[in-house]
Amino acid sequence: MTKTLIASLALLAAQPVLADVIVFQGARLIDGSGKAPLENAVIVVDGGRIAAVGPARKVQIPEGARQIDLKGRTVMPGIINAHGHVGLVAGGKNSADAYTRENVLAQLAQYEQYGVTAVLTLGLNRDLVYDVRDEQRRGALGGASLFTAGRGIGVPDGAPPVPVAPDQVYRPKTVEEAIADVRETASHHPDFLKLWVDDVYGKFPKMQPAIFHAAIEEAHKNGVKVASHVFYLEDAKELVRDGVDALAHSVRDQAVDAALIDQMKQRGTFYVSTFTVDESAFRFADEPALLDDPFLAGALAPEVIQQFRSAEYRQKVAADPNLPKIRSALANGMHNLKALHDAGVHIAFGTDSGANPARIAGWAEHRELEMMVAAGLKPMQAIVAATRGSAQMLGAADRGTLEKGKRADFLVLAGNPLDDIRNTRKLVAIWHGGREVKPRVPPAAGATASAPR
Ligand SMILES: [Zn+2]
Repeated sequence: MTKTLIASLALLAAQPVLADVIVFQGARLIDGSGKAPLENAVIVVDGGRIAAVGPARKVQIPEGARQIDLKGRTVMPGIINAHGHVGLVAGGKNSADAYTRENVLAQLAQYEQYGVTAVLTLGLNRDLVYDVRDEQRRGALGGASLFTAGRGIGVPDGAPPVPVAPDQVYRPKTVEEAIADVRETASHHPDFLKLWVDDVYGKFPKMQPAIFHAAIEEAHKNGVKVASHVFYLEDAKELVRDGVDALAHSVRDQAVDAALIDQMKQRGTFYVSTFTVDESAFRFADEPALLDDPFLAGALAPEVIQQFRSAEYRQKVAADPNLPKIRSALANGMHNLKALHDAGVHIAFGTDSGANPARIAGWAEHRELEMMVAAGLKPMQAIVAATRGSAQMLGAADRGTLEKGKRADFLVLAGNPLDDIRNTRKLVAIWHGGREVKPRVPPAAGATASAPR
């Protein structure tokens, strides 16, 4: 035995018994359940879980525990992105060879450093994703907690129109092939199955209803939930009738109607709006001042920011023949989130970040919260969607709210997001499974850098 090892063993033995117990005191607590925030809260964390939480006068503080003063801070659950991607972009570009373990781990770290403590990578994954997920669940890897839909079921020469390798997506030609692809996916025990039902502004053939019907049925037979990319109201209705568990984008061609709302409520279908998908097609060209935000700069290489600032980029955006359609799709989507939310449909939260260079992991999630509020949700309602709502969609009963027995996944903020939802960006610390993660952009730099309107 070396001297240093003996010394460190001696140190370990000298630790107080409650070294693993951390007490957080004095914060305003938004617990993710939607109930009014609790002032001067105490949170006791033991072994990465919440052992006790409540008002200071009611929670007993264990002796010998490490204490952290959070007076003046707000605590909310970690953000859960129920529609994200990893391994599709490298060096500011989409590429078919971007899906490496190294890139996946770096992107999970980026999510976590922006307060996104869990992400569902919804399709276009190489099989290595399952190894990363399983190693992470054994405690061997850090980063945002990975949930995954594996490859997903797309359309031959159709959606998703993303440059990926053949082993990142299935494109079945027949019902039989679709069933075989779902079975192969199910053999990896994914957290979801992903489907793409869209013609991408009329550009591609759409998935045949017989294919998605069979895929949903086969997935459910194998105990796997299904989320679908969607655009049109009629497709949404058919998917919901077939039992899809989540619509992974907004309905964007027209206003939702009572028939869809009734079906979604009856079946408990989740809805994920992903507004940042639509705005990523034009926002930096419309509002280049957003590119000055240090909170954004932390998420992008400087050369990528330069690219978005260029006249070339603005010309490219202006020349997109679909631009007016995308703008109206976003407006429809914003109307529909408010309508579905107010009708009592289950709302989860996602961004589609990581799918292309303009959908920026970490930044997009805070932007999405802001857009949900712009769509008419109260800040508390947007936060509940991004925490409890997403956890319910994932079936992840161990997270989403800050209650006794749940994981200690929470954000410490230097501002109250109920006053201004953009205060979710004022990240002082991220606690993930009771482990502290430093924010990518600390509030000293990011606190005043709210996005201009
Ligand atoms: Zn996606």
